[in-house]
Amino acid sequence: MAKATTTIKQVLNYQPAHAAWFAANQALFNQVVAFYFEVIQAHEQVLDLPNKEALTALEMLTHTTKKNPNPVMPLSDSVEDAPAMFRRAAINAALGSARSFYSHLCKWRSRREKALAKGHTWTLRPPVPPRSWNKSATLYAGQWKERTASSIMLKVWTGTCWSWIKIRITGRELPADVELGSPSLIRRGKQWWLHTPLEKQFSSPATIEQQVTTHAQTKICAVDLNINEQLAVCTIQTVAGTILATRFIGGGRRIAGFRKKLLGRIARNRRKTGMIAEGEQDNADRWRKIRNVDDSSAHLVSARIVQFARQHEATIVVFEHLGSLKPQKGKYSHRGNSKRAFWMKGRLFKYAKYKSYHEGMLTSRVNPRNTSRECAGCHSLVARYEEGQPAEGYTSGAPLVLCQECGMRGNADRNASLVIGQRLITRYHQSSQEKPPTPLAIERGEKSPGVAVCQDATREEGPSIPPARHADRNEHGTAQDGSLGMAERLSDIPH
Ligand SMILES: [Zn+2]
Repeated sequence: MAKATTTIKQVLNYQPAHAAWFAANQALFNQVVAFYFEVIQAHEQVLDLPNKEALTALEMLTHTTKKNPNPVMPLSDSVEDAPAMFRRAAINAALGSARSFYSHLCKWRSRREKALAKGHTWTLRPPVPPRSWNKSATLYAGQWKERTASSIMLKVWTGTCWSWIKIRITGRELPADVELGSPSLIRRGKQWWLHTPLEKQFSSPATIEQQVTTHAQTKICAVDLNINEQLAVCTIQTVAGTILATRFIGGGRRIAGFRKKLLGRIARNRRKTGMIAEGEQDNADRWRKIRNVDDSSAHLVSARIVQFARQHEATIVVFEHLGSLKPQKGKYSHRGNSKRAFWMKGRLFKYAKYKSYHEGMLTSRVNPRNTSRECAGCHSLVARYEEGQPAEGYTSGAPLVLCQECGMRGNADRNASLVIGQRLITRYHQSSQEKPPTPLAIERGEKSPGVAVCQDATREEGPSIPPARHADRNEHGTAQDGSLGMAERLSDIPH
């Protein structure tokens, strides 16, 4: 079984006085976390234990009971009154921070040792433990009760005592088929939120390699991300090469326009003040607006990609690697815009990855080299051009493509998306052919005459695409070509 976790974020509606209580509760929580971090530092060996045993060991060291009347470092010396579940949440938070800190320290020590052994000088300072703590309080069962869609009872430290308060909740409702984790009280600006992790169980999907090499009918959703109007172009194809569907996800121009307007204002503001006015209130607001729009559109587009893939029962979603950001010339607003578009692509992938995993789909990325220049039908170089212009040359970003070799004609981004999907298939077919033959490889061998023809064609005619660093295996043997007639492909690409 596999599981996927998301967090549901809900706004809390409370009386103004309660905000001070939440803050006091969080301060106390951090006080207890800091205390346990010190206990762990004094007893590093607890980190060798799994979390459950570590928690017991830490309680033995700190918590006074009848059976344990004289703990070594009693918590009650610094915090008098902490409920068991509050304490345990703090212990686990401290354990998490300590594990992370000591693993960084370990890495630093081993790197230092290696450097010194080689005779290098070593100037990098060791990581330091956190000096201040600002963790959000996690509420274990016992610290909350009577949760409904619209309210929850929370037990919080008011600064003077522990008190149960009823809080109204607004925002997304909790889905039915999930397991609720422990909620956390989160402060964002002046507003307090309740974040609840949700866990969903499902049978774990087979690896991409298994899916691609064992089932010719495995459906792959390939995605070409862009910075023009079509933010994403998705195609569904089977491993055998049949193209089933295409979707264009637009809205790029509107987002770019909005972003450009704000960036222009920020630039004007900077010119006026003659300095980088990022901290200035006006610009800070604009930056926040830009971030929000980018983030919400990344969520929207990724959700649509995943929805489309699920609709067509795809089990793999494939993107191209981002590559590096190419420096742009031109106005500040233009440069800033393309930079943000680049970041947005990264975020889009990240969101699509977890969203598709929730649906039991896996994601992968392929080499981005020349995906837009290659013909999805025969892998020759294509001409890319604007509507109404002659179909020749290569105009970056233009909407149409024509392949002189096989006559394929159609939308440039859709062609790129198909090439992205094919690269994933080729990767596994290529690598499984390098291994000693399995019954499956022999089965596939029956289709190979077509492959040979196609390979020869790309080698003899037309300039072949220069091989990229990792692209070698993608450029040659395209196993799926043999099974796909050219006519079939031509009819599929809209004229
Ligand atoms: Zn072609």
